[in-house]
Amino acid sequence: MSESRFSKKGKFEIAMFGRSNVGKSSIVRELTGHKVRVGKRPGVTLKPTVVKRSDLVVTDHPGFGFMSGVKERKQDIVKDRIVRGIEKNSDEISLALLVIDAPSFVDVVGRWESRNEIPIDIEMFDFLAELEVDTIIVPNKMDKVENENEELDEIISRFGLLKPWTKWKYVVAPSSAKKGDLGVLKSLIRERLHDSKRDDLLKYL
Ligand code: GDP
Repeated sequence: MSESRFSKKGKFEIAMFGRSNVGKSSIVRELTGHKVRVGKRPGVTLKPTVVKRSDLVVTDHPGFGFMSGVKERKQDIVKDRIVRGIEKNSDEISLALLVIDAPSFVDVVGRWESRNEIPIDIEMFDFLAELEVDTIIVPNKMDKVENENEELDEIISRFGLLKPWTKWKYVVAPSSAKKGDLGVLKSLIRERLHDSKRDDLLKYL
């Protein structure tokens, strides 16, 4: 990856994406100590929440996909805005986190595929890859998963990655924000900061 990607504006931007209710706000709070409201009514805001710690910027994009009480039309607007925003600013995103609900992910994907539709998370993953945005998949709520390795194997295969998931530890960070268990994710982010010669930002994580 080119260095210019990071040095452009002197900031290191971590962009978070995911469906509503997967735990994005909880992760931002755990990562940065910033008290964002958890469990808020999903999908009511279209603007990303931005948390800045010096040059480390975390942008939490609004949840896409199904949102209870929000009309389908608005869901499309949210998705389109996110997609257009990424297209326009992809070279400013140093790292994307695609957060998914680990316990329900495989079922949800199955339901979409049975309707011959591409699940929105997978569409987003492919889209980020196309734009060459470095992306980490964050299966969250791992505390609710029984057979972790089996579930993770199933999850990554839905993204088109070959099992076992342990081959993909550089891009998969099993997490439990609720339990404060973000060790794997934090070390992957630290590695990225180090690789981008931004050790000065390590202290903010
Ligand atoms: P967001 O809509 O993606 O920002 O999700 P939130 O952070 O608001 O979390 C949605 C719900 O999931 C809340 O009730 C959280 O307490 C819960 N939650 C978040 N992370 C975890 C986790 O790791 N495990 C479990 N069991 N629940 C979680």
